[in-house]
Amino acid sequence: MTDLLYQTDSYLKEFDANVMSVLLTERAVILDRTAFYPGGGGQPCDFGTLMVEGETYPVEKVKKQGDDVLHFLGGDLPLPSAGAAARGTLDWARRYELMRIHTALHVLCGTIFRDYGALVTGGDMQPGKGRLDFEFETMGGELVREIEAAINKEVVEGREIRVRILPREEAFQIPDLIRTKINLLPEGITQVRTVEIVGLDLQADGGTHVRNTSEVGTIRVVDYKSKGAINKRIYIEVE
Ligand SMILES: [Zn+2]
Repeated sequence: MTDLLYQTDSYLKEFDANVMSVLLTERAVILDRTAFYPGGGGQPCDFGTLMVEGETYPVEKVKKQGDDVLHFLGGDLPLPSAGAAARGTLDWARRYELMRIHTALHVLCGTIFRDYGALVTGGDMQPGKGRLDFEFETMGGELVREIEAAINKEVVEGREIRVRILPREEAFQIPDLIRTKINLLPEGITQVRTVEIVGLDLQADGGTHVRNTSEVGTIRVVDYKSKGAINKRIYIEVE
């Protein structure tokens, strides 16, 4: 089982850990703790390096498998041994861009729900850019400009982002979480991590976000398109 350090500190760029096991055919190691985000909820995994026994391995992919996080090592150096001490370093520029765009998507989601009552049906992100699909019947240039102005107002507002880990029962009492389909969480999950943009948005979410909307930077709505009668897609970028 890997302790997920990024869940409580998304600004951790380097960390010490131990190699729990080594998967030879996959060229992957499982660590006892990690700051590498393994991907999920639309946020891609982190990259970086792992230093073990004097060697530096590129971390080319990270994936969650049950309660373990697998770190796939590039290059052709012989793999480290189980039990070895390791030091992980994130590709911070990439991660921070993902934190900014991920938070920007929450700002978009919260603003559109507040102003138009429209729910999100899907989304995706890459460093610096992302998209969300909303239950909107019509969308045009004027509306899009209105949305762009409204989301940037929230960024400038400097809203705090709070992360909490709650017992499942407690999370299920929060009305704002119900609309984000928290009820679809698998039975076995006993704790729910919530991410709140104070006064704007609250979601059950495992990803990494910035601490304050002011860190997001200016958001541009770069495109929009219809994805069916009641689904409209909005594309954004952060500068
Ligand atoms: Zn999120």
